[in-house]
Amino acid sequence: MKIAVIGAGPAGLCALKTCLDENFNCDVFEKSGVIGGVWNYNEKIGIDEFGIPIHNSVYEELRTNLPKELMQFENFPFKGPLSFVYPPDVINYVNKYADAFNLLPHIQFHKNVEEIRPLPNNRWKIIIRDLKPMKQELIICEYDAVVICVGNFNKPFIPSFKGLDKFKGSIRHSITYRKADLYKNGKVLLVGSGPSGSDITRQLSKVAEKVILSHRSPLENNITFSENVKTKPEIAEFRENTVLFIDGTEEDITDVLLCTGYLFDYPFLTNECGIEVEDNYVKYLYKQIINAKHPTMAILGVPHTTFLFIMFGIQIRFFIAYLKGQFTASKETMIDDAILFQKRQKEKGVSLSRVNHEYYDDLSETAKIPNLPSVCQKLFDHVEDIGILKFQENYKILNDQEFIIV
Ligand SMILES: Cc1cc2nc3c(=O)[nH]c(=O)nc-3n(C[C@H](O)[C@H](O)[C@H](O)COP(=O)(O)OP(=O)(O)OC[C@H]3O[C@@H](n4cnc5c(N)ncnc54)[C@H](O)[C@@H]3O)c2cc1C
Repeated sequence: MKIAVIGAGPAGLCALKTCLDENFNCDVFEKSGVIGGVWNYNEKIGIDEFGIPIHNSVYEELRTNLPKELMQFENFPFKGPLSFVYPPDVINYVNKYADAFNLLPHIQFHKNVEEIRPLPNNRWKIIIRDLKPMKQELIICEYDAVVICVGNFNKPFIPSFKGLDKFKGSIRHSITYRKADLYKNGKVLLVGSGPSGSDITRQLSKVAEKVILSHRSPLENNITFSENVKTKPEIAEFRENTVLFIDGTEEDITDVLLCTGYLFDYPFLTNECGIEVEDNYVKYLYKQIINAKHPTMAILGVPHTTFLFIMFGIQIRFFIAYLKGQFTASKETMIDDAILFQKRQKEKGVSLSRVNHEYYDDLSETAKIPNLPSVCQKLFDHVEDIGILKFQENYKILNDQEFIIV
């Protein structure tokens, strides 16, 4: 079987290694010139030298919000004294992984996947643009299966706000944020209190005159900011040099930084692929992985409030088990299951992006594949309980069930 993997970020590398272990013939197409996806720091923003949008959104001073013990591939420990590490450490780790399993010869760089469409007999036609200078030619190929590993941080979500067009200062999305210096002495409004929003607020507060953090969801556990940070409720409207909040207060501002998240985006999938994104939810993916309408396609990393690196391992093993016929499910079963997942998450009031050990138990039982060690969820829950961006603890995983703080 010939498998195409789209993207050589952490998910694509994990997919490649696992497919090679199964003796599948596997090619990875990566639009940039490097492996590691978003973990590569890139000063540039906007469009790269090959005319392709840059989606490396890690910034200077970023530390991981998960310990590296939850950012390691199966059976390949992420070594080092600190648990909360920096992007170059993650890049170093993925490079070691690629070297250890001789992955690079299977990766084609500067290859932008522009179109994927289904063919008869469950196969796929893929159109790829060779981005190298002087080339820019289209390559057309066919594969038996395709694994999409393009990440979730490509298309910024920009909410609409009353009066934003009248605001005279700068307006940017966090996808373009690299260094706090840009906001030196500014009066910055930061919108959104997710992990990036909270972290960037802290960084800006060191250089800006004031930072106003407008948030809808409750702030992360125990998070503390310096005195020049004010937290505010939702925005009512923008004026030329000020912002008005729903509690009736108004603040002078010079800059707006939107940490409002991202939208799922698969611009290269033709309508015939049957993948739809509705209310920022990817329909209809069986177990959040397999395209129910064309089950020789999988997307990795759709649930992303979890320990992604470890999840990629079980997701790709699940897909491979399906391809090898280790379990079957009709199209109707897959679609019903996907709808049920959506309904259950809504009933529980849980975001569709969040999964936990119940999800991994389900994958393991359905496909009869080894489950993830329970220590992963235990450590994840511990880190969530103490609150993100604390960075003061280091962990050691003792065995499949236990970790300690070291
Ligand atoms: C600011 C920030 C902080 C984060 N912090 C953490 C953290 O602390 N811990 C954690 O576990 N996760 C964190 N994440 C999540 C992070 O996305 C994952 O860790 C991980 O990078 C996901 O891997 P991926 O391979 O799915 O996607 P990506 O890393 O996004 O890689 C996708 C790859 O696909 C390529 N690609 C995209 N489109 C195409 C195309 N059409 N053709 C060919 N190639 C294509 C891209 O060039 C890229 O190399 C963070 C994300 C951001 C943005």
